[in-house]
Amino acid sequence: MIPYGRQHITQADIQAVSDVLKSDFLTQGPTIPRFEQAIAQRVGAGHGVALNSATSALHVACLALGLGPGDVLWTSPITFVASANCALYCGAQVDFVDIEPDTFTMSPRHLEEKLRHAAQNNCLPKVIVPVHMCGQSCDMAAIGALAKAYNIRVIEDASHAIGGLYQNQPVGACAHSDITIFSFHPVKIITTAEGGMALTNSADLARHMARLRSHGITRDPAEMTHQPDGPWYYQQIELGMNYRMTDMQAALGLSQLERLDEYVTRRNVLAERYDRLLADLPLDLPGRLADARSAFHLYVIRLRDHTLHRAVFEGLRAAGIGVNLHYIPVHLQPYYTRMGFAAGDFEAAEHYYQRAISLPLFAVMTEAEQDEVVQVLRQLLHG
Ligand SMILES: *Cc1c(COP(=O)(O)O)cnc(C)c1O
Repeated sequence: MIPYGRQHITQADIQAVSDVLKSDFLTQGPTIPRFEQAIAQRVGAGHGVALNSATSALHVACLALGLGPGDVLWTSPITFVASANCALYCGAQVDFVDIEPDTFTMSPRHLEEKLRHAAQNNCLPKVIVPVHMCGQSCDMAAIGALAKAYNIRVIEDASHAIGGLYQNQPVGACAHSDITIFSFHPVKIITTAEGGMALTNSADLARHMARLRSHGITRDPAEMTHQPDGPWYYQQIELGMNYRMTDMQAALGLSQLERLDEYVTRRNVLAERYDRLLADLPLDLPGRLADARSAFHLYVIRLRDHTLHRAVFEGLRAAGIGVNLHYIPVHLQPYYTRMGFAAGDFEAAEHYYQRAISLPLFAVMTEAEQDEVVQVLRQLLHG
């Protein structure tokens, strides 16, 4: 079986984790701030806040931006459910902005139109969450300009996109957003097993997210309601969670970070090789933004003839090719249809869903494995 994604753990990774196990701190030790600074520096953001998942990062990001009951968050229907669920955790509502057909990312055209409508009806969102689907940045200049014009906060869901570039800047620099989120789940570009990070250029947002990560507790006298009772004193000044990453995970992340460039380069080489090998088949290949470099978390093909979709998918699986479908449109999940969303709401997303297949792609994939995927696909399409 060739999986659609697979982590790569080296001896150096194992050593880094075992060094922490032999140290004084398994969690809340010195490795977390080192990991936070290393990622922030790597992507050119002012601050990084490590969390136990990207889902937790999305939650604290929404809370720090003041999202709450009565507010609305907009995201893309083609994403993992976590990009939308974060609004519901805060008691806010969710709506969606349809995708660009070729890049599967939030469409600035649809966003502009929907914002114009929402402004007329006095129901503008407080936060939008563009998703860098497959590792390619959204058109953040256009999305950021619209958000600015309507005074809306932006969280980039870059769970797929660490190591990517947009207009010559690393994804994560938050040039057009308030906060950017990375995921370090094992199928993503680099891993900490479970884990995520929120990047921001705002010291206030970083401090707030760090407090929400740990119960809403502060040890900073400046944030307290009165002078500390003594040197033991801390105060809970709001309701937070326990969303902390461990030092073992941070050590794994730091070790993996050293290979980020290598991984993203290899993923791009394999993606370009897929482009060449699949060029003559009745498929639509992933579109590229002119001034971006994808991290290529996923390589998604779309069948021109959607009536073959299920048979081709099943044929690949039966031949030991671990294909997947990213994603079932979130608005069609039962939890969301119960809120009133229905088939037909987001045409481009649903058109994509009827045709998309994620082919295997991971940093340690061999050309022989890739040739096998292409050969099986070719047979299925040409019978
Ligand atoms: C993986 C993923 C998440 C959630 O990441 P976790 O670290 O597993 O919580 C959120 N959004 C997108 C787009 C993802 O792919």
